[in-house]
Amino acid sequence: MPLTIGRWRIDRHEGAIYLQRQPNPRCRECGGEGSVDSPLTEHDRIVEPCGCWDPFRSIRIRFSRTVVTERYPF
Ligand SMILES: [Zn+2]
Repeated sequence: MPLTIGRWRIDRHEGAIYLQRQPNPRCRECGGEGSVDSPLTEHDRIVEPCGCWDPFRSIRIRFSRTVVTERYPF
């Protein structure tokens, strides 16, 4: 389950933690939605990610698995 602190979304997945910056809630372009409509033609529009964040970029922090090997003298 993702955790959100400020503009950062923190997710744990398969032995790593992913940090992703979320859209700016005070952004003038998208108003915090993270996407903007770009008109291609009068009737056609394309939804693009806003420049205030990058939905395809995240910071991955891998944590090494601690392997405990204990040997007993018998
Ligand atoms: Zn924005």
